[in-house]
Amino acid sequence: MSDRRTAAVLDRAGLDALVRVLRARGHTVVGPTVRDAAVVLAEITSADELPFGWGTEVEAGRYRLVPRADGAVFAHTTGPQSWKAFLHPEREKLWSADRTAAGELTITEERPARTSYAFLGVRPCDLRAIAVQDRVLAGGRYPDRGYAARRAGAFLVAAECTEPGATCFCVSMGTGPGADAGFDLALTELLDAAGHRFLVRAGSDAGEAVLADVPHRPADEDTRAAARDAVAAARERMGRAMPPVDLRALLGDSLTADRWDDLAARCLTCGNCTMVCPTCFCVTTEEVTDLSGTHAERWQRWDSCFDLDFSRLHDGPVRSSGRSRYRQWLTHKLATWYEQFGSSGCVGCGRCVAWCPVGIDLTEEAAALCEERTARSRTETLEESPR
Ligand code: SF4
Ligand code: SF4
Repeated sequence: MSDRRTAAVLDRAGLDALVRVLRARGHTVVGPTVRDAAVVLAEITSADELPFGWGTEVEAGRYRLVPRADGAVFAHTTGPQSWKAFLHPEREKLWSADRTAAGELTITEERPARTSYAFLGVRPCDLRAIAVQDRVLAGGRYPDRGYAARRAGAFLVAAECTEPGATCFCVSMGTGPGADAGFDLALTELLDAAGHRFLVRAGSDAGEAVLADVPHRPADEDTRAAARDAVAAARERMGRAMPPVDLRALLGDSLTADRWDDLAARCLTCGNCTMVCPTCFCVTTEEVTDLSGTHAERWQRWDSCFDLDFSRLHDGPVRSSGRSRYRQWLTHKLATWYEQFGSSGCVGCGRCVAWCPVGIDLTEEAAALCEERTARSRTETLEESPR
């Protein structure tokens, strides 16, 4: 990010003002809020609705809200949703068809809604996930018009991570905990002897313009240093890490690994991991009709590679076993995604680990594949050695 951009300090009243200014500029502000015993993303009309005083405890297959005495607002980990729920919604009507009494057919294409979102509290891993979905859904020859329209109007306020969770591994994926690009404004929350405040950095002209309307004071060197230290400390407290190997080569070498059988015995093929993943983008389409037979609609909805129908060709699914479906998911995420989209499909947010009902952890699975490959190569070396 250019050093010419403004850095400032906001206090709690400044955060309130930020929400007001974004709304006054016509944005629908979406941020974290507490609902159903989780931190969920929802439209907010005031900073009061943010999760002040709430943190989270996460582990494989486990997520709990925990109260915090310090009143921090961005000290929770990623929840069950990601921003794709708004940019790439679960269901979206594509077109409808109506037959008149005279038998004429009219097709009405659905126009993408013109909602201009402001996302408040986007984690650095989720900034990367949005960039991944930008490449997949808004790039290429056939962009998703709805996604492209919503994304073009979106204003992103990042919140750097200072309290990583036990399922987070952004450092090993190179995606956090600091935010260096892809945002309009970036906040770093600070709670120390100098009080509860936020270092805010502009990352775009739009961010500069919004910040100019929000009461703030110039960033002093102590606040900048405290923000750097808080993010540096978070780097040291990651709950998990991917094994430090070439994951593309690992997955390529593991197509026939025994570990897939072990996984298949645990995986329920429920697809939760794909639903919560901020980069998973697969959709299917379905037609619905009314009983009169004069009205039909085509809807796009999220699909999952864990679904049997996902790979159905002619009279059967290509991937009929849980083994082949999990292998497809992990191999695509960590390896073949590079060939398609030029990056990893995993940003290390840890959602799939926390929200898997049986606690399957992809970092543990990658480590197990690594061990198996090493053991295999040892055996092969021994077999090839002259006796
Ligand atoms: S890995 Fe977990 S969340 Fe994903 S399909 Fe299997 S059981 Fe469901
Ligand atoms: S694969 Fe899991 S950890 Fe990686 S981005 Fe998706 S949900 Fe997050």
